Amino acid sequence: MSIFDIFTKNARKMRIVRNGNQSLRSISMPVGAITDDVKALAQRMTVTMKENDVPGVGLAAPQVGVNLRLIVVDTRPDGKSSRKKPPTSPGEMMLNPLMPVALVNPEIISSSKETECACEGCLSLPGVEGEVTRPKKVLLKAQLISGEQVMLECDGLLARCLQHEIDHLNGILFIDRASEEDRQVAKPIMDEMANEEARLAGK
Ligand SMILES: [Zn+2]
Repeated sequence: MSIFDIFTKNARKMRIVRNGNQSLRSISMPVGAITDDVKALAQRMTVTMKENDVPGVGLAAPQVGVNLRLIVVDTRPDGKSSRKKPPTSPGEMMLNPLMPVALVNPEIISSSKETECACEGCLSLPGVEGEVTRPKKVLLKAQLISGEQVMLECDGLLARCLQHEIDHLNGILFIDRASEEDRQVAKPIMDEMANEEARLAGK
């Protein structure tokens, strides 16, 4: 059972910041000790991810305006993907039963040469999509919220999600990695979001 099952009822949703917000373009700081505040933030991020109009499979702290190296992930296969073969990478085997799971100071230690292209979206860029080529497998190093250190090879949607979320910790958005064509299509939507974020910041 996930620790979030206990706390979720009381945790409050946070505002997801959008393109143009400075926290999305900042390098996030490592988490020091895993304090109650860090745990509470992870819980609130989980609620925010799950209760979004379109629930996300991952959320990074900068997306709620906090520049800390903390992400939450829930890439468990849904009913729709039940025909696909079950996940077999050590990362999926260990983390899927813990999901939604928070990862503290997550790092990609190494990546496969083999790449895969897939369509991505982002809770901070609603309405924007783009094809992104990424390494198919990654070796993840991170701490669980319990403090346990893990080093796991991850494949599938989990590998892609980890790369997307860790990019957020480094101020990178998926659209930066998309084709020129996808970026052109996204530009008016990106600009509109940036205007709205500037308006909110000016209040
Ligand atoms: Zn994102």
